Amino acid sequence: MTIRTRFAPSPTGLLHIGNARAALFNYLFARHVGGQFLLRIEDTDRERSTQKAVDVLFEGLRWMGLDWDEEPVFQSSRQPRHTEVALQLLEQGDAYRCYCTPEELTAMREQAMKEGRPPRYNGYWRDRDPSEAPPGASYTVRIKAPREGETVVNDLVQGEVRVANTELDDMIILRADGTPTYQHAVVVDDHDMAITHVIRGDDHLTNTFRQSMIYTAMGWERPNFAHLPLIHGPDGAKLSKRHGAQSVVEFRDMGYLPEALCNYLLRLGWGHGDAEILSRPEQIELFDLDGVGRAPSRMDYAKLSHINGVWLRQADDDRLTADVVERLTGRDGLVVDDVARARIRTLMPGLKERARTLVELADSAAFLARPVPFAFDAKAEKLLTPEARTMLRGLSHELAALGDFTPEALDAALRAFAETSGLKLGQVAQPVRAALTGTTTSPGIDATLAALGRDEVLARIGAVLHG
Ligand code: GLU
Repeated sequence: MTIRTRFAPSPTGLLHIGNARAALFNYLFARHVGGQFLLRIEDTDRERSTQKAVDVLFEGLRWMGLDWDEEPVFQSSRQPRHTEVALQLLEQGDAYRCYCTPEELTAMREQAMKEGRPPRYNGYWRDRDPSEAPPGASYTVRIKAPREGETVVNDLVQGEVRVANTELDDMIILRADGTPTYQHAVVVDDHDMAITHVIRGDDHLTNTFRQSMIYTAMGWERPNFAHLPLIHGPDGAKLSKRHGAQSVVEFRDMGYLPEALCNYLLRLGWGHGDAEILSRPEQIELFDLDGVGRAPSRMDYAKLSHINGVWLRQADDDRLTADVVERLTGRDGLVVDDVARARIRTLMPGLKERARTLVELADSAAFLARPVPFAFDAKAEKLLTPEARTMLRGLSHELAALGDFTPEALDAALRAFAETSGLKLGQVAQPVRAALTGTTTSPGIDATLAALGRDEVLARIGAVLHG
């Protein structure tokens, strides 16, 4: 039997990090066993499910590199099938029409609470004949919950979980307007899509017991279930806005690489020895549901940044350059021409050593694209003393006359210049860095000078001397 998993998000306008992790686990599990990973868009809330909200999901999954098999299934398109199954349950006597009005249901709930019982539907229409209903009255369709025994789920993460069937109520499967309820649609879809493993957040664990009723009544085999503990904030509380970024797009905008975010999300609540940095092929090879922990995970933004730094240093320089140019253009409104782009690309090996995010990387590369003259930060300003300016004047003559403008030649020239001027290398390098970058940090000064090129270096030093 082919193992088939699915990711079944509701289009809410964002791809939440918890859902993104569920998608990743479904994907890795399917790929690990050579199965299939399917996508179902649970778009029954027609108001929220705009095309834009659906596109956000596709875009997020593509960005994370989670390619799915087959065409995505849109739940809304399957309504006739949901109705068909509900009618079959009616016919079999496993479901019934309930004619209670909303007022009657409210009264029923209030009565139950007054008597200290759980506010559940009391099965009023379960054994009544529909002929007793007022003519033309609207009705919902309810499933007959088992009244005895218990429902057991051998969850692949949570272990064995049991619920007494008396805890289950005759839940509605078709609303009065004929639309299927969420619990009903999910079961019919998972069955028809031949899903073998439902891997989802453990906020759905109680739904599993309710959904079980439909599988049993239809005589369908239940899929395996794996309920993942939720992701909490660093303080252990439910992850919310105040903790920081929550959606995949936010993490992308904050400069995280998809490889790093996926790597982090995988390690959050799943372990394989001490292995920290895992490539996608390694993830696929190693992932299993046995390695998923039962305790809620805590989001650790510092750890994510650390992992991102590791992935940044391994990332391709052309790709990083393209991303940085896009950020500088869009975010900072800088015009990055081919010359500036080439400088960024040349210096990229040095720049990426220091950055933990693409935002930091873009910040550190911005000076390469700034037109002269540009603003200096306070620390850089302080370095440009009258003595430093005199030194820069002398140095600029040397640089103008230098043969090769390569990092090696520049390194030798700066050392020789420092020695003849009776200065330490830092006393030369730091004011030069300030003059060229407007800041006090950059990759090695020789590489920085080489990336800017002679004309630009002389122009920038000139601007400091004559500005
Ligand atoms: N649509 C549900 C959600 O976004 C997921 C349902 C499921 O995985 O069964 O939470």
